[in-house]
Amino acid sequence: MKTYDAIVVGGGMAGLTAATYLARAGRSVLLLEKNEKCGGLVSTFEKDGFLFEGGVRALIDAGIISPMLHELGIEMETVPSPVTVGVEDQFVHVEGQGALADYAAMLKHLYPESADQVARLIRVIRKVTKDMEILYAVDNPAFRGLFDDRKYFFQHYLPWMFQFLRTLYAIGHMRGAVEPFLEARLPNRSLRDIVAQHFFRGTPAFFALSYFYLYTDYIYPRGGVGQLPEKVTQKARDLGVEIRLNTRVTGLDAAQRIVTDERGEQYRYADLVWAADLKTLYRIAQTDGLPEAVTAAIEAEKARILPRRGADSVFTVYLGVDEPPETFRRISHGHFFYTPSRQGLGEIHTTELRQMLAKWEQIRREDVLAWLDRFTALNTYEIAIPVFKEPNAAPPGKTGLIISTLFEYDLVKRVQEDGWYQEFKEAVADRMVRTLGESVYPVLRDPSKILFRFTATPITIANTAGSSEGAIVGWSFEDEIPVTHSLLRINDAPKTAFPHIVKAGQWAYSPTGVPTALLTGRLAAKALGA
Ligand SMILES: Cc1cc2nc3c(=O)[nH]c(=O)nc-3n(C[C@H](O)[C@H](O)[C@H](O)COP(=O)(O)OP(=O)(O)OC[C@H]3O[C@@H](n4cnc5c(N)ncnc54)[C@H](O)[C@@H]3O)c2cc1C
Repeated sequence: MKTYDAIVVGGGMAGLTAATYLARAGRSVLLLEKNEKCGGLVSTFEKDGFLFEGGVRALIDAGIISPMLHELGIEMETVPSPVTVGVEDQFVHVEGQGALADYAAMLKHLYPESADQVARLIRVIRKVTKDMEILYAVDNPAFRGLFDDRKYFFQHYLPWMFQFLRTLYAIGHMRGAVEPFLEARLPNRSLRDIVAQHFFRGTPAFFALSYFYLYTDYIYPRGGVGQLPEKVTQKARDLGVEIRLNTRVTGLDAAQRIVTDERGEQYRYADLVWAADLKTLYRIAQTDGLPEAVTAAIEAEKARILPRRGADSVFTVYLGVDEPPETFRRISHGHFFYTPSRQGLGEIHTTELRQMLAKWEQIRREDVLAWLDRFTALNTYEIAIPVFKEPNAAPPGKTGLIISTLFEYDLVKRVQEDGWYQEFKEAVADRMVRTLGESVYPVLRDPSKILFRFTATPITIANTAGSSEGAIVGWSFEDEIPVTHSLLRINDAPKTAFPHIVKAGQWAYSPTGVPTALLTGRLAAKALGA
């Protein structure tokens, strides 16, 4: 059996990045990916002449994506992906200096009795925006050797470093969850909800409130976000990475350094990068033959990791609409965060949902559907319209919509176990489309306009990415996070308790997303000396 210098498990953006950098450093690399193509939660697919994103709708550059592509000599044409934020019939196009003032005006219009609270909120967002400008002011050091370019170091990094440390200190005070952070400042429950329900439950306040800045940083590759993994996959292959698709890793012998796939085929490694669901690693790894102290450390790590859960997942409705893009362009940009009611979700997605799941055996289908009525009517939607950014993303005169909302994996799982998953999917999709038809898109009320409709649920995500609880950004923020979650300690993210195994990707660091997947992939390769 050949021994590879490095085996990478998982061909999402983290695994692809790690594999590419390892190969660039001259290592023999084998990448094992369970799906028929690489990319994981970054993908674009075609349906009846429409292009849709399977996962992330647009990319946040974050001073990471462009520097990495540049360093690897990869060309990828991108266009800006501007964002619109809307509530009821009020819309703000997040562009230029005045956008935050427009947002403030919108909130004051919606909550005239809480103008002082709106002003307080805007002051915090403005401050966080300044912090973000500092964080992203330079190319991420991981993709530009700090000392390789002395001119850049002295002109940019050194002055930046002091501001950066001050910013990290400021962020430290906003590491707690956004909900209590807002509760302490904004007595108006609806106003708080409108801000917080965009985000995963328990999202760190700094991360959530930085989104107004991040909205201006979105880019969209020509041809769809799937171009990113395609281009990096090609680079990896050019550098000699051997990629085995349709190969799910199901076993790992940590002492012999052998991984096994579901067909029983075995592969030997000198080092391994685990860039897939971390619970899977701790579940399948055999430790027989390792020194006792190492096994004890692994067991301790396993006890911390296995009980933890993934963050919220998403429910997505894909629509092909027989209506030209202009109809939709009159309302928003192609990346649109829309809330049809100023009322806010209140306890619907928290206490009520938890109580419903706790008493599941006594809950009737009608109760679940009644809950869904309110959940879909008051929720916030992320709506992506690829054809605004890529003219070839829909047949002439037609528009594809990707409509999604954060959604609880456990609810869908319970429904599936009870045998009404198909019916439930349709029920959710009906309500989402109806809500938008009755608010922002009257055209959706006409069934003849809908050419096709299909959905992706948290279970779809769990199956396609192999991700615990269908999570899209790793660990739940509602519980202790069992991996590195401080920017100052991000270099520790690749460490695991296993000898010769490092980790990367959405489960390696929190909070995460595409830029962090790249960064942790790069850091994993670095940890192995590449
Ligand atoms: C709807 C949606 C919206 C999002 N929005 C944003 C956003 O706005 N901004 C942002 O930054 N991020 C966003 N994200 C999150 C972002 O896409 C992910 O955090 C990131 O892509 C994770 O990359 P990864 O490589 O860590 O993991 P993944 O993409 O999950 O890749 C893991 C790979 O491992 C493979 N795999 C799993 N198990 C095995 C196994 N046993 N053997 C072999 N292979 C295996 C999987 O098939 C997959 O290809 C969004 C995601 C979704 C789905």
